[in-house]
Amino acid sequence: MAPRAGNPRLLRGALIALGAVLLGAAYGTTLFPTPLAARIEPAIGVVGVDAGKSLAWILRTKRGVVLIDAGMDQDAKAILGELGAEGVSPAQVQAILITHAHPDHWGGAAAFRGAKVYAGAGDVALLKGEAKLKGPLSSMLGGMMPAPLAAVEAVQDGQVLELDGEEIRAVSLPGHTPGSTAYLWKDLLFTGDALLGKGAAEVTRAPWLFCEDAAQARRSLEKLRDVPFTRMADGHIGATADARSKLIRLLRK
Ligand SMILES: [Zn+2]
Repeated sequence: MAPRAGNPRLLRGALIALGAVLLGAAYGTTLFPTPLAARIEPAIGVVGVDAGKSLAWILRTKRGVVLIDAGMDQDAKAILGELGAEGVSPAQVQAILITHAHPDHWGGAAAFRGAKVYAGAGDVALLKGEAKLKGPLSSMLGGMMPAPLAAVEAVQDGQVLELDGEEIRAVSLPGHTPGSTAYLWKDLLFTGDALLGKGAAEVTRAPWLFCEDAAQARRSLEKLRDVPFTRMADGHIGATADARSKLIRLLRK
């Protein structure tokens, strides 16, 4: 039976739902931090650019680059601009490592057709449009999802990827999304939103509202105690020095 338009309980329910969505969106906008700079260089051969609501990291390899995340901008303008300035053509993007399936981290991926896309096994279905986000902001974030990707290679915890001469280790950190994955290159850990910089002295977790499973995301961070990184490049703030010590301080809280 179709509900009657004049039903006050239904109307109240709809208004509460609308209010919750609007509050969530407002909260999201204020909490989603802007990067420390539009262009960041955390190490020789690594540049981060503000690629639309998040940072995309460009890692130089033998014949081109590997991207860690691809921003929200589906035209990938900032990434293409940086590649152009470095004399790298879009076809030289060898691979894209996606830290997680939230829409602000992979919108530009489809702009690099020659690149192989990798993501944590738990997020592959989200990226292919075969599953939906379920967290508190799923309706807002779900509505922002880019067109599904045709091919995504699943990476497993501890898997070492050999990408055009560079060795990168996947570290599964489920919780923020089911397949959230950090990528370790030398002593630099690309964390996505699993761990974020905060000022000069701290690192922090993403707000629970953005997490598919915030309790699991907290537990996952314990695992980083044993990962040999010193520097961190995250998905929204920038680069953080001495990041492992800062993480250990966070875990004590
Ligand atoms: Zn996220």
